Amino acid sequence: MERDATILVTGGTGLVGSAIVRILRAKGYSNVLAPARGMLDLMNVQAVREYFAAQRPAYAVLAAARVGGIAANMAHPAEFLHQNIVMQENVMWAAHQQGVRKLMFLGSNCIYPRECPQPMREEYIMTGPVEPTNEAYAIAKIAGVKLAEKIYEQYGTPFISCLPCNIYGDRDHFETERGHVIPGMLRRMHDAKRSGAPEFVIWGTGTPRREFMHADDLAEGVEFLMRVYTENRFVNIGSGEDITVGELAALIKEIVGYKGKLVFDTSKPDGMPRKLLEVSRIRALGWAPRVSLRDGIERVYRWFLENQ
Ligand code: GDP
Repeated sequence: MERDATILVTGGTGLVGSAIVRILRAKGYSNVLAPARGMLDLMNVQAVREYFAAQRPAYAVLAAARVGGIAANMAHPAEFLHQNIVMQENVMWAAHQQGVRKLMFLGSNCIYPRECPQPMREEYIMTGPVEPTNEAYAIAKIAGVKLAEKIYEQYGTPFISCLPCNIYGDRDHFETERGHVIPGMLRRMHDAKRSGAPEFVIWGTGTPRREFMHADDLAEGVEFLMRVYTENRFVNIGSGEDITVGELAALIKEIVGYKGKLVFDTSKPDGMPRKLLEVSRIRALGWAPRVSLRDGIERVYRWFLENQ
C-alpha cells in the first residue's frame, strides 16, 4: 500500500473506523478519505457509485456497520440485517467495479456457531447455527465475508476479511441500551458511583466469557494485513485471551472507583457462552496486539470523562 495512494475508510467516524483513519495517517498515508454520513450515505447505491467514480480510491477498508450490544441487536434485528447487507453490498460492489486494488472487510467473531469449539478456528465458520441474540448481524457479516471471498475467487482481486473479537475504545456508544458491555458498564458504573447506588446490576449470570481488544490494536492489525496479507482466507484478529463478564465488572469497578456491591440480573440474556478466537494464523504472520485490557479500559474511561 503506497503512502500516497487514495485509501477509503468507510465508517471513519465510528469506534473502529476512526482508529483506522488515525493510525493510517500516523503511519504517513497522506490520502485517507473518511466521508462522514452527511457527505456519503452508504445506503444510497447511486451516491456510493458516484463517490467511487469521483474519488477513485486504490484501497478500501470497510468499517461502516450498524452495530450495537446485546440489547440493541435484540431490539432491532431487521435493521441490523437490512442496513448491514445494503451498506456492505453497495460499497464492495462499487469498489469492485471501480477497480479498487485491495479491500478489507471487517467481519465479527459472532459469525461462528453458538456451540463452536473453543478457541474458534477460521475453518469453523458455518459449521452450526449462530447465537440467536445476534443472528441478524451475524448473517449480514457472513454475507459480507463471503462476497469478498467470491470476488477474490472469481476476479482475482484481493478482497479480504478479518474477524475481530469484541472491540472497545474511544468514540464508542456509551448509551445503556445501545452499547456493548465495556462502554455500557463504564457508563452505568460511573452513574452508580455518582449517585452513591449501593448495588450495581450486571446483566445475565456473569459467566459468559469475552475476548476484548482495543480499537487502536485492531487498526494496527488492519494496516498490517493490508500490507502483507494476500491469501483468500479470512483471518481472526484478537488478543487470544478472554475473561468472564463478572471478572470484567470487577475490573471496571476498580477503574471507576465504585464502592458498592456487584449483583446479577439473571433474567437478562447472556448471549454466546464463549467466543474466543484462535489467533495463531495472524500471530504466525508476525502480528500481535499491544494494549493490555486494564490500560485500555483506563484510557477509555479517561476519554469518557473528558468527552461526555
Ligand atoms: P455480545 O458479546 O454480543 O454478547 O454483546 P455485549 O458486549 O453487549 O454483551 C456481552 C455480555 O455482557 C453479555 O453476556 C451481556 O449480558 C453482559 N453484560 C453485563 N452487563 C452489561 C451491560 O451493562 N451492557 C451490555 N451490553 N452487556 C452487559
